[in-house]
Amino acid sequence: MAAMKPDRSYQGLALDTLAVHAGQPPDPVSGAVMTPIVLASTFAQERPGQHKGFEYSRSGNPTRKALEDCLATLEGGTHGLAFSSGSAATATLLHTLKPGDEVLAGDDLYGGTFRLLDKVMRPMGIGSRFLDLRNLDAVREAITPKTRMMWLETPTNPMLKVFDVAALATIARERGITLVVDNTFATPVLQRPLELGAHVVVHSTTKYLNGHSDVVGGALVTADGALAERLGFLQNAIGAIPSPFDCYMVLRGLKTLGVRVRAQSASASAIASRLEQHAAVERVFYPGLASHPDRALAERQMKGPGAMITVVLRGGLPFAETFLESLQIFSCAESLGGVESLAEHPAIMTHASIPAEARAALGISDGLVRLSVGLEAEADLWGDIAQALGRASR
Ligand SMILES: *Cc1c(COP(=O)(O)O)cnc(C)c1O
Repeated sequence: MAAMKPDRSYQGLALDTLAVHAGQPPDPVSGAVMTPIVLASTFAQERPGQHKGFEYSRSGNPTRKALEDCLATLEGGTHGLAFSSGSAATATLLHTLKPGDEVLAGDDLYGGTFRLLDKVMRPMGIGSRFLDLRNLDAVREAITPKTRMMWLETPTNPMLKVFDVAALATIARERGITLVVDNTFATPVLQRPLELGAHVVVHSTTKYLNGHSDVVGGALVTADGALAERLGFLQNAIGAIPSPFDCYMVLRGLKTLGVRVRAQSASASAIASRLEQHAAVERVFYPGLASHPDRALAERQMKGPGAMITVVLRGGLPFAETFLESLQIFSCAESLGGVESLAEHPAIMTHASIPAEARAALGISDGLVRLSVGLEAEADLWGDIAQALGRASR
């Protein structure tokens, strides 16, 4: 196929096509079909104030712009902003708030997001409340005149609860609250929060969007022009921007996003069903299983259940530790969303920054293990899990 012409409209094109082309027409200077990595920190101006749209690389960079435009298109937004990490994207977005404002957040959040809200924003006068957002009556009751932002992940981390974005968006809009959805787990392949009424989408591009566990990055996407302008100001003023090389890497990863996520989600579905049958397993949390309490909502809201599985092993901590040590193909590591399968222990690893009582209340027990299913052959992954469960049972 010929490279897409710069003036080609993206209207009506599928995500898989947009992931390859959006924001990245062939380079007008050389015709290069892959986006050049522009390392320049500054850009020549013909006369003061007259330039080609770039002045200084913190404010804007051509490689970053290609990534930002591609991300905006994939999420169905109009403006994308790239950051040096998902946490930098989160922190920058939280800077739209002022002292006295409150955040109403989901109760099962990425540990680092909880830490930002509880340990960084709270001392600056921006409080947060954490709630199971499946209870819409409780959500309505928890909103006060100070509530300016609702923040959620769905499916949640690590319990894989599913929140109803459209229903929460209706409440948020009625009450004049900005609805933020961290779409890191689902990706725009499986879920498009802006179409469901969210105002802003957050990503840790470190995970599925880059997909190869070799970049730490983040992004915000919105279709609200005024909010985008404010976020652009904060992105430049705070300066937590990604390097041009990292932007190139994420753009490269994005090209295979659709095939990766669909394949990983299909393997995860099969593995989750097998896990549920295994004698050493107490419970499996996976939105594609009939036993999942939010399955009907997941089917409505998502195009697939995703590639994250949370499993509670019988035998608690010693069993979970032996299981994790015995895995050969899965690496025991934090993070998720890469081509390689990972397994981790939230209570000790990713969610250690959440107080023990809060973890217990959420159900993050010592036997709980989180799996990120990669692109390896499903039979090999299941073989690995089965042998590790066998060793742990001994
Ligand atoms: C990893 C992650 C983040 C934070 O992103 P970093 O790139 O690690 O800063 C935020 N939200 C979710 C759901 C994540 O998985």
